[in-house]
Amino acid sequence: MPKYCQKCGKELPQSTRGKYCQNCQRRSDGKLKSVLTTAASAALLAGGTVISIALRGKKL
Ligand SMILES: [Zn+2]
Repeated sequence: MPKYCQKCGKELPQSTRGKYCQNCQRRSDGKLKSVLTTAASAALLAGGTVISIALRGKKL
């Protein structure tokens, strides 16, 4: 039975693992990576703000 990409409906070769074609897999990977990067930088920013506030609080 042929498999089809669950995102774009393209027929997948038998060797393909997972539900998506390589194209969609790559795209979702990129999205995941950018989400992780955004979350990480937001966490760093928040952490830096908390630390600077804490340091400022100590100085005062
Ligand atoms: Zn696809």
